[in-house]
Amino acid sequence: MTDAPKPRKTHAAKGKTPAGADAPARKPVSALTGRLHKLGIYNDADMLLHLPMRYEDETRVVSIREAAPGLPAQIEAEVEHAEITFKPRRQLVAKLRDDSGVIYLRFLNFYPAMQKLLEPGRRVRAFGEVRSGFWGEEMIHPRVLAVTEGEALPQSLTPIYPATAGLAQAALRKLVLRAFERSSLVDFLPEALRKSLRLAGWERSLRFLHQPPPEASQSALEERSHPAWRRVKFDELLTQQIQLRRAYIERRAHAAASLPAQGRLPAQLIAALPFALTGAQARAVDEIARDLAQAYPMQRLLQGDVGSGKTIVAALAMLQAAENGLQAALMAPTEILAEQHYRKLDQWLTPLGIGVAWLSGSQKKKERAAMLEKIARGEALLAVGTHALIEDTVGLEKLGLAVVDEQHRFGVRQRLALREKVAGRLPHMLMMSATPIPRTLAMSYMADLDVSVLDELPPGRTPIVTKLVADSRREEVIERVRDACREGRQAYWVCPLIEESETLQLQTAVETYETLAAELAELRVGLVHGRLKPAEKAEVMEAFLRNETQVLVATTVIEVGVDVPNASLMVIEHAERFGLAQLHQLRGRVGRGAAASTCVLVYAQPLSQNGRERLKAIFETTDGFEIARRDLQLRGPGEFIGARQSGVPLLRYADLEADVDLIEVAKQAAEELQARYPEAADALLRRWYGGRAELLKA
Ligand code: ADP
Ligand code: MG
Repeated sequence: MTDAPKPRKTHAAKGKTPAGADAPARKPVSALTGRLHKLGIYNDADMLLHLPMRYEDETRVVSIREAAPGLPAQIEAEVEHAEITFKPRRQLVAKLRDDSGVIYLRFLNFYPAMQKLLEPGRRVRAFGEVRSGFWGEEMIHPRVLAVTEGEALPQSLTPIYPATAGLAQAALRKLVLRAFERSSLVDFLPEALRKSLRLAGWERSLRFLHQPPPEASQSALEERSHPAWRRVKFDELLTQQIQLRRAYIERRAHAAASLPAQGRLPAQLIAALPFALTGAQARAVDEIARDLAQAYPMQRLLQGDVGSGKTIVAALAMLQAAENGLQAALMAPTEILAEQHYRKLDQWLTPLGIGVAWLSGSQKKKERAAMLEKIARGEALLAVGTHALIEDTVGLEKLGLAVVDEQHRFGVRQRLALREKVAGRLPHMLMMSATPIPRTLAMSYMADLDVSVLDELPPGRTPIVTKLVADSRREEVIERVRDACREGRQAYWVCPLIEESETLQLQTAVETYETLAAELAELRVGLVHGRLKPAEKAEVMEAFLRNETQVLVATTVIEVGVDVPNASLMVIEHAERFGLAQLHQLRGRVGRGAAASTCVLVYAQPLSQNGRERLKAIFETTDGFEIARRDLQLRGPGEFIGARQSGVPLLRYADLEADVDLIEVAKQAAEELQARYPEAADALLRRWYGGRAELLKA
């Protein structure tokens, strides 16, 4: 095993890289290059990191009698008979015999070569799952190998790799062996660090995973708990941490306008609010205020459950920018949400003499021009809007702070566009998310961000009661709506998501609206959906906010941010079709006032396993973080990091839930490596990300 690199004197640094094969050279591995690229394999290092999904044990043969149905086994026997039959369909059937009995091999697809291999009198090894078939015990499509008597058995378990069409396991195995021959597997982890972390050596671990000895525990291999797996997962997490740490440091090297807290305007706003900030809000406000005072750009994520009061935190931050004479912009993913933010900010800030402008994609030309004018003349230092904000015509050259609400709904490019409005300096960035991010995810994929958490809801909220109701009881649900409204409350009725067709979704919403309006004749019912013009949408929302309509039938457009405290009943039809985060968001539309609130999840049978789990989770807890954790389990990290995906590679081997202890350790080790062995950190980035490392800086 090669020594670990020593501080400031690594092999890589000397240019004579023993990690030659690990270097990002995009040399084709073979003629199968295209197929290998499909598997993400560009060089020998990638090849060696293409690890088996599972293993088959061909190191032993059992007699035909010993081969138990339901389990994979390898037998060695002589072909007694073989023929192509046509019932029930064309297939090749071979009868094999050894001293203990007979077994049939069946092939529904086969080439002449297979027929040749299975000529009577031939001796073969067959590996496959044994099952009880029509003729007796059989193997369907086993792997067959011609052998001579006494031929040696493989010395290691047979790895089964993730493969792609036209790239057989045998070919992958050969390529891995070749890659081993050509690579020197330097352990980039300094020996002392590796020992203190009790991690297995790199080369040993890789060899073990590609060619485990027969006595290796299959379960430890497959559950990925074996020390060799731990080492690989550790290095993967370590590399991720190094990458994110570098991105973090790099961002700090950029200049930003320092916006120290003057304290006057924020204090005035706080004094004017009808409520006091929660402890969590006050903490977040402080953290942000301190960041804004720095001369490098803030990159902070403000996460807090629905209703935790993120908007006021954002408003205070924006005020701090305005106090320093710079602009601040707040971008929201939907018109409804942006408009609502605008109203709030306008109501809070105009009395303080701070103008707020409002920009949306569908605004009337005249209004838009007036708003742009207001911004240009400096009458409005604050701008609120949808992605219309990032259009060229919007003059935000003095942007000091960009706030992005529901940040996961925007792409990387959209968020960067807001940042690029200012030449030379970067604005401070505050990203807000009401989809709580599980701790493990924040620690891994988002390690390049600073995080403030609102882990406390404003006081006086009564917990929401969640009910699961089968759709056969729809009539009762309608009565509930009637009762709630009779008591002066209001209700949302959310129509099912129809993924296949927006038209169909719209149609359902219209029908539901008509039915409810007829059944609840004494109440006024509103309808809001994505096809309404923004002005119409705003009108409907406004009417609901003023309690002129009591029931609001909606598609998922109301999912984010809508804030009508008097609404205390949320009905969600076909709840089983919604994702966990979405259900949580929707439910969070009620429970915003002092009244006891209810969320009725109407579901249709039969429920899929996944649908059942989602409903169970949402029923059992209202804790956004717990829901996020379960969502992560059900859906994996891809959905959470959404648009970030293009920036940070998904973990291939480490599992956020199972390997949480490794994440902590990797984070510390990354800092140590970065500080004391930067060349080793470089080498790890090359090994794992190759040329892709450049991509990640966004
Ligand atoms: P979210 O975090 O979901 O964006 P909002 O900012 O929309 O939450 O706040 C939800 C509601 O709670 C709003 O009506 C807001 O005015 C109110 N609110 C915010 N902070 C407090 C507080 N500290 N005490 C009482 N009400 C608050
Ligand atoms: Mg919000």
